[in-house]
Amino acid sequence: MTVVQELPAVLSATTSVPHYRMFIDGRWVDTEEHYEIINPATEEIVATAAKGGIEHADAAVAAAKRTFDEGVWRGVSPARRAEIFDAVASALTARAEELAVLGTREGGSPYLLSMGFNAGQPISNLGYFARLLRGYEFETPGPLVGPILMGGLIRREPLGVCVAIVPWNFPLSLAVWKVVPALAAGNSVVLKTDEKTPIGALEFARELRAAGLPDGVFNVVTGNGEEVGAHLAKHPDVRKIAFTGSTEVGKLVSQAASTSNLKRVTLELGGKGPNIVLEDADMRLAVDGSIWAFLMHAGQACEAGTRLLLPAAVHDQFVDRLIDRLRTIRIGDPLDPATNIGPLISARQRDRVLGYIESAKQEGATIAHGGGVPAGFDRGYWVEPTVLTGVTNEMKVAREEIFGPVLCVLKYDSVDEAISLANDTEYGLSAGVWSADPNKALEVARRLEAGSVWINDWHMVHEEYPFGGYKQSGLGRELGAHALDEYTEVKSVQISLEPNISNHAFGLVLSTPAPSWED
Ligand code: NAD
Repeated sequence: MTVVQELPAVLSATTSVPHYRMFIDGRWVDTEEHYEIINPATEEIVATAAKGGIEHADAAVAAAKRTFDEGVWRGVSPARRAEIFDAVASALTARAEELAVLGTREGGSPYLLSMGFNAGQPISNLGYFARLLRGYEFETPGPLVGPILMGGLIRREPLGVCVAIVPWNFPLSLAVWKVVPALAAGNSVVLKTDEKTPIGALEFARELRAAGLPDGVFNVVTGNGEEVGAHLAKHPDVRKIAFTGSTEVGKLVSQAASTSNLKRVTLELGGKGPNIVLEDADMRLAVDGSIWAFLMHAGQACEAGTRLLLPAAVHDQFVDRLIDRLRTIRIGDPLDPATNIGPLISARQRDRVLGYIESAKQEGATIAHGGGVPAGFDRGYWVEPTVLTGVTNEMKVAREEIFGPVLCVLKYDSVDEAISLANDTEYGLSAGVWSADPNKALEVARRLEAGSVWINDWHMVHEEYPFGGYKQSGLGRELGAHALDEYTEVKSVQISLEPNISNHAFGLVLSTPAPSWED
């Protein structure tokens, strides 16, 4: 393991491609073997990175455990922790444009989206958790209870070493959702980035360190995701694992988490969001909103609205309008602020999405728009915005998460049928309702089995609202007022106000009084 001290990235002596190292125990750590980070829009090399393995995961956990045991961070006052988060938010604000460009180059999201998810949202989340921390009750008096008079304290204490594992689609945001509440509660953290998108997290580590976070409290391991992730998930010194990714891998993480010990687990997994347009909806709004729902980040969003449920009476006209609007979408260079849709993350993901479109054709759906690679986009990993009509809920495209720019359109005859189609899925991350009548929409929202339901909009993920999934979309919640609770143990400290009485209640009264201590 090579260790160097300066910045996360260095320019290699032979090329202008920056090289990123891992952040372990306050130092920038390199490996002999490197790998390339590829711009998915152009297939150019954006950077190289250290290829971390099990040895680095172990070093990161050891540093986190040492700092936790020594109390170098959990012993710091909540007010000082909050100050550090505010300082990081200021540093990231000053670098917002740079972070957006880095996010676009490594992950392919259009610049304006990167500005939101690689800068704006992390900055806002840091401020939110700083505010939450300032008012957080780590210790509250418990009630006086009887019949044996007892009082006490209810404490919230940090867990120890927490691991965060994140995917590539919103790499910095999803890391901040986990790392910041974990640190806020006084834990030490190891973050495993997706190998395709480590840059934002490494820049974040740099700013945390500059703001005064003690070395070893936060560590970032890059490299072989499957090997490192699986190792961390079963590591005996890790007390909690917070994972965002596919349902398939989430289940593996959940199993591994109970092998060597019993880790607390939070899982944010896949989705198949049903988007219900009611007959009284403002159709202009609903058409554009349904495009936003399925097409943000080329459909690579877990909470995308990918099943559009339309009343039979307006189906044809709605689909025609939606396709007309899709013709105005600008696909192209994601660094151009005018671009709406960028590429998919990899050739593998593109081929997977094209495979789903082919399966829809074979199962009898109609490709009403798109369906292939857009003309002239030979370099990079592109798929056209695609609309499938005639989809039924039994088809593979309606049941499985595609994670690409593909909309499945289904027809319904009654609101009850729409709700039943919406809930007929193993996923339950997001759902939406469009209606001119807020009460009617709320009534539908109450009956939908999803962690987030949006009315007359989509993707309204706000830090004040808890986020997470029903059913196989996850376990636990991130964000919201209780986000810190997820990174704490609860301890009851009970003080007897009538000492040594409680044994009487169980009939364990010794026949003779205890001798005095001196006897
Ligand atoms: P993925 O499950 O393949 O990978 C996610 C992360 O897990 C990566 O860092 C990867 O390196 C790591 N990993 C891979 N194998 C592992 C193992 N055996 N043990 C531990 N870690 C392992 O997911 P992906 O394809 O990279 O990302 C897309 C998925 O993420 C989609 O299913 C999407 O719905 C989901 N997602 C969910 C949310 C949410 O909040 N619910 C948000 C974004 C993405």
